[in-house]
Amino acid sequence: MITDIQPSEFNNPSLEVLISVERLQARIQELGAQITRDFLGKDLLLICVLKGACIFLGDLVRNIDLPLAIDFIAVSSYGAASKSSGEVRILKDLDASLKGKDIIVVEDIVDTGLTLSYLLDIFHRRQANSVSVVALLDKPSRRIRQVDVAYVGFEIPNAFVVGYGLDYAERYRNLPFVALVKDENI
Ligand code: IMP
Repeated sequence: MITDIQPSEFNNPSLEVLISVERLQARIQELGAQITRDFLGKDLLLICVLKGACIFLGDLVRNIDLPLAIDFIAVSSYGAASKSSGEVRILKDLDASLKGKDIIVVEDIVDTGLTLSYLLDIFHRRQANSVSVVALLDKPSRRIRQVDVAYVGFEIPNAFVVGYGLDYAERYRNLPFVALVKDENI
């Protein structure tokens, strides 16, 4: 039941803003401009890795001034709070063929790199012409598998973050900023 004493999701005291709305939007404009320059004349397809990258994709494509297509893939998460098994399972596959396409994989965050390296392998095997990656966030200190990320929004320290598509137990994806979780009992 919604009551008028419902606490604010955007002003949750257990969260601390790490990247503000303004910084996110300014950086995404820069990434969009860079991609626009680099992919001029290409058969561009952006692949959004669900669910975390969906908000980023929405803002990013509106800053890429080129004809492009989008597609979605969903992979099983081993759970950000638990240990990485390295096992990735496709829950929803792409709709279209990748043959001859120049693709950009759109990720919310690269942590261990295990998810991304698995995805890059399958996209190469499907005969894409080129495969690049744009990740909003990068936690390089956590990397287990090296992956080449051409476009990075922000490097962040080794901390758990939520918002702007990223969740904690499916919550907080709707925050318009990226926040640090200060209190594990949120
Ligand atoms: P990787 O395979 O370890 O690189 O993990 C990538 C996935 O783990 C991301 O696409 C996120 O869904 C999730 N993840 C990693 N770190 C965080 C975080 O700090 N907050 C929320 N999700 C995260």
